[in-house]
Amino acid sequence: MAERLGPPLDEPIFDELAIIGIGLIGSSLARAIRKQNGARRIVIADASDAALARAEDLALGDRFTSDVADAVRGADCVILCAPVGATGAIGRAIAPALKHGAIVSDVGSVKGAVIAELEPVLPAHARLVPAHPVAGTEQSGPDAGFATLFVNRWSILTPPTGANPEAVGNVRELWEAIGANVEIMGAAHHDLVLAITSHVPHLIAYNIVGTAADLEDVTQSEVMKFSAGGFRDFTRIAASDPTMWRDVFLYNKEAVLEMLGRFSEDLTALQRMIRRGDGDGLFELFTRTRAIRLGIVAQGQETAAPDFGRRGAEGDGDGP
Ligand code: NAP
Repeated sequence: MAERLGPPLDEPIFDELAIIGIGLIGSSLARAIRKQNGARRIVIADASDAALARAEDLALGDRFTSDVADAVRGADCVILCAPVGATGAIGRAIAPALKHGAIVSDVGSVKGAVIAELEPVLPAHARLVPAHPVAGTEQSGPDAGFATLFVNRWSILTPPTGANPEAVGNVRELWEAIGANVEIMGAAHHDLVLAITSHVPHLIAYNIVGTAADLEDVTQSEVMKFSAGGFRDFTRIAASDPTMWRDVFLYNKEAVLEMLGRFSEDLTALQRMIRRGDGDGLFELFTRTRAIRLGIVAQGQETAAPDFGRRGAEGDGDGP
């Protein structure tokens, strides 16, 4: 899908914006915000010296530091782009250094846990507006990002009760400036929806690729050589970042287990249809699921072009 950014903003939304974690999502944000004039200055922090050095080589920001507290000192808006499991530690480290009234946002794939980790540690003057862009690829690191990643994708904001409306408005404006559509919902609802649309599908991919890899009577080279489109799609998803996905399952445990329970029941029903030779049942289900795919294409979230696993990563993300 060829996606384009609109014209840049006349006036930046923020004077200074800090991005903590300059991987796939953080570096895509830095590129897009810079292109769209979303902030006058961008400060970048990362725990990895290699990622930070690479971000500097790529000129993704105006200032680079490994000290997260130092990064946020002058920021009007701070966006946490590290794996969800690092949220609490980063929150505690930046809390004393936050500017009065600074917005603290994030991009984590889980929202309830992020709010639970941040709310108790942030100072009362900070304005928390969590966000989750439903966009991504299976790649990681500062080189993997690109400015159009969020174009025509959804960014879900989950402001906690009592969130500052002006801060929510500013965060919405920032996502819209970089091409995203914005939806606002409660964190618990977000976690349930994403459990079924993203987290469980990733778990299924990890599982099926793991099962194929462990088969005793099929060699690994046969798995690779004869991989059909369906399996190749699963391997792409199962190549996603292990740290990030470990954290998603640890921090969205309840919703994932709830959806997995339903999935297992439906799988058992399918197993029964196959055992009983219930062709009508299988046909009826496959017809319904095909309609879901057509609906996603109709909403512009996917292309109808056939994909033989050869499309490039750009604009092709189905991130968590
Ligand atoms: P990534 O490419 O692996 O980048 C994460 C970066 O954060 C790494 O450079 C990592 O350094 C750094 N980091 C880890 N702990 C840190 C800490 N305590 N302080 C500062 N930096 C730290 O990850 P990503 O794919 O961009 O994902 C980042 C966030 O976006 C996650 O919360 C994820 O749930 C969310 N998200 C991801 C996608 C997707 O498709 N990937 C989509 C939507 C949302 P090390 O390498 O040294 O650990």
